[in-house]
Amino acid sequence: MEHLVNPRVKDIQISGIRKISNLVSTYKDALTLTIGQPDFPTPDHIMKAAHAAIDAHKTTYTPNPGMLELRQAASAFVKGKYGLEYRPESEVIVTSGASQALDITLRTILEEGSEVILPGPIYPGYEPLVRLCGGVPVYADTRNNGFKLTAELLEPHITEKTRCIILCYPSNPTGRVLSKEELADIAKLLENKSIFVISDEIYSELIYGQPHVSLASYPGMREKTIVINGLSKSHSMTGWRIGFTFAPEEITQHMVKVHQYNVTCASSISQYAALEALTNGVDDALPMKEAYVQRRDFVYKRLLDMGFELEKPEGAFYLFPSIEKFKLSSMDFTMKLLEEQKVAVVPGDAFSIYGEGYIRISYAYGMDILEKATERLEMFVRKL
Ligand code: PMP
Repeated sequence: MEHLVNPRVKDIQISGIRKISNLVSTYKDALTLTIGQPDFPTPDHIMKAAHAAIDAHKTTYTPNPGMLELRQAASAFVKGKYGLEYRPESEVIVTSGASQALDITLRTILEEGSEVILPGPIYPGYEPLVRLCGGVPVYADTRNNGFKLTAELLEPHITEKTRCIILCYPSNPTGRVLSKEELADIAKLLENKSIFVISDEIYSELIYGQPHVSLASYPGMREKTIVINGLSKSHSMTGWRIGFTFAPEEITQHMVKVHQYNVTCASSISQYAALEALTNGVDDALPMKEAYVQRRDFVYKRLLDMGFELEKPEGAFYLFPSIEKFKLSSMDFTMKLLEEQKVAVVPGDAFSIYGEGYIRISYAYGMDILEKATERLEMFVRKL
């Protein structure tokens, strides 16, 4: 019966990140630097709130867009942190992670043949969702610009069919952040254009320097931007599956329909946990951030000392060094490193063809692992 499976679904490949993680589990003693999730436990007060919700039998459906109190807390959070104003009643949706937020957003705005501009290299979660909607991914190559999408790089890719641009800053996989000026230029370019921007700000709390600035806060951008955020990274809550969309009412009202028929609502227990996170844990990311900065500085310096060329990441928990000088494809480099030194990283080509020639190293691991893994990496590159 496989011939009856939707060809669009058949064409989707499993993510390169998963492929490597699955392979690593077959190696004994492998050190893995592949995973994109915090290694910290969910803060205790959030766990307690979830237990209390279970004990109080708060286990029923919630309103489709999420509990109003949680939408109020989410709205207050993005106002307090980033100066964004969204009405909790009609402009916020609680989703099952940022992943589902992306899915309902794309399904709400794309139609057959809609072009979606993606800065490459980029998080591999976007392209399959675009394709499932019949959309056409169009990549803007950011490699010669320190992995930053600028108005100049963006402009030549805009056509009559462009429906949306997806931005992710701080970026997975590069850790780069768009500056205020770069965002202002993009806002200016889009000023008179009817094009949506999906602004994936899931790493907004993990930014190491200047404060996070959302594209939606620029003049004229609120009406065309759908901001996506969530608690997976900021509160170390990947498994709880809580994300948010912030968008003007005229778009949100349509997204809610897709959301309703898709999942009805996000998990009620997780919503109570999220309410606690956004009420009494608004700065929970701070101690984790301190640890990430220390780890970033350590691995960054080690890589430089080994002779890698790389940009200094300003957010998220990834480094994206070039491996071009080793004359191996990113997959061959990754496989050889795993076989010879039992260290797993993600080949850059998992982040589109624009990631070829790089590897992604996650530093969401304890210092002991990072020390051992970088030692092994050093032995590996010395022999190459
Ligand atoms: N966007 C980016 C850029 C990510 O890195 C991730 C998770 N790795 C997601 C979205 C999905 O996050 P969530 O766990 O909230 O679905």
